[in-house]
Amino acid sequence: AHAMKDKIVALFGLGGSGIATAKAIMAGGAEVLAWDDNPTSVERAAAAGITTGDLRQAGWKDFSSFVLSPGVPLTHPRPHWTVDLARAAGVEIIGDIELFVRERNRAAPDCPFIAITGTNGKSTTTALIAHIIKSAGRDMQLGGNIGTAVMTLDPPASDRYYVVECSSYQIDLAPSINPTAGILLNLTPDHLDRHGTIQHYAEIKERLVAGSDTAIIGVDDSYSAQIADRLERTGKTVIRISKRQPVISGFFADGPKLMHASAGSAKEIASLEGIGSLRGEHNAQNALAAMAACLAAGLGIEEIRAGLKSFPGLAHRMEQVATRGKVLFVNDSKATNADAAAPALSSFERIYWIAGGLPKEGGIAALSGFFPRIAKAYLIGETAPQFAATLGEAAPYEISGTIAAAVEHAARDAEKDDGAEPVVLLSPACASFDQFQNFEKRGEAFRQAVLALDGAQPIEG
Ligand code: ADP
Repeated sequence: AHAMKDKIVALFGLGGSGIATAKAIMAGGAEVLAWDDNPTSVERAAAAGITTGDLRQAGWKDFSSFVLSPGVPLTHPRPHWTVDLARAAGVEIIGDIELFVRERNRAAPDCPFIAITGTNGKSTTTALIAHIIKSAGRDMQLGGNIGTAVMTLDPPASDRYYVVECSSYQIDLAPSINPTAGILLNLTPDHLDRHGTIQHYAEIKERLVAGSDTAIIGVDDSYSAQIADRLERTGKTVIRISKRQPVISGFFADGPKLMHASAGSAKEIASLEGIGSLRGEHNAQNALAAMAACLAAGLGIEEIRAGLKSFPGLAHRMEQVATRGKVLFVNDSKATNADAAAPALSSFERIYWIAGGLPKEGGIAALSGFFPRIAKAYLIGETAPQFAATLGEAAPYEISGTIAAAVEHAARDAEKDDGAEPVVLLSPACASFDQFQNFEKRGEAFRQAVLALDGAQPIEG
């Protein structure tokens, strides 16, 4: 990044994205001294032409900045010593998003930049915005927490759109973040292990919208609503989003209708009717935020409507995998706790529910309001007995053990359902690690078992 020209920058974390970040800093005319506590990573970086050296032995007063690579959180146990050294020497600690922001502000300050944060729905909203912009034929760069390190994207230019998902720790490491449109979707007490208190967590997330030209805030939870009020009092342009009630000025959902409100009067500007990939109230929140951001970044309403309609959805998040007769098969493997499973359970009425895995605190007791929708539950993994006890008399269940058995039995039972729209839903409310490497592998196992059923019709994304 040219914003770092002639500086000496320390960098920790030499995975693939760390190497890309180091190279980008060097390409901008700065020197880098990089380190990792994995010797193989250090060797690979050295072979790629990056100067490496043990940062414990380094002269920290020479560094202008200390860059923590994407994927190395501030609170990660490994680089603690480097963070301590940087702090002791008074060297700023930043991440790759800060590097991107400085470069954009230097080289192309009017380049449209949309940043997304929140407790839930970040990836869906980010992917939706990216899809709308790309479908509108614009030059679109997608990165951040969703997967691609921002420094590997094409460099900022005034007609290039950046869509960047930001986790709390990335915001924490990006003090200058100033997007064209910043989205705070929602704030619930999750991930508090890293940030201690909800106040601290909220404060970090607030920085993203506080730095934005236009602040787009989901006001359905009280923390976010307070942030919207506070920012508005400072004179910031705030656009409020609500998935369940009218707002005076902003965007809200009325069933599948996406409404725009200004000066107290509201009109429909798009509809989610029939868009399977954006089903459910939570997705109305995501779609409203995406729409507001795209409008703020200069897209036309027709372009936005077209993008909403053709959005294929993200894999493993309420992903419609196949139909078989009138039975729909839905993969929501990403729902690794009860909170995340709630949106899927609230979106269907006749549910053949595949759930279970590695126990999480609280189990599924919080989901009891949805038990009347459970035609039958098919329990897998270590939590099966515990979930069975929670379901008790409230819903029929069997202990299926594996995904394959669960899919087979659920498909057989759902086929005989004479109600409207029976759904076989994998929304496990558990981590996957007792039976799978990760939630993606679990979702793939579901998809394979479904597609192996006689007469299953895949739904193409
Ligand atoms: P994140 O990137 O923030 O983890 P995802 O888009 O990957 O969010 O969605 C994760 C889970 O949260 C999914 O199971 C989905 O059903 C649920 N979800 C998605 N959007 C929202 C939202 N706006 N509010 C609450 N839950 C949501």
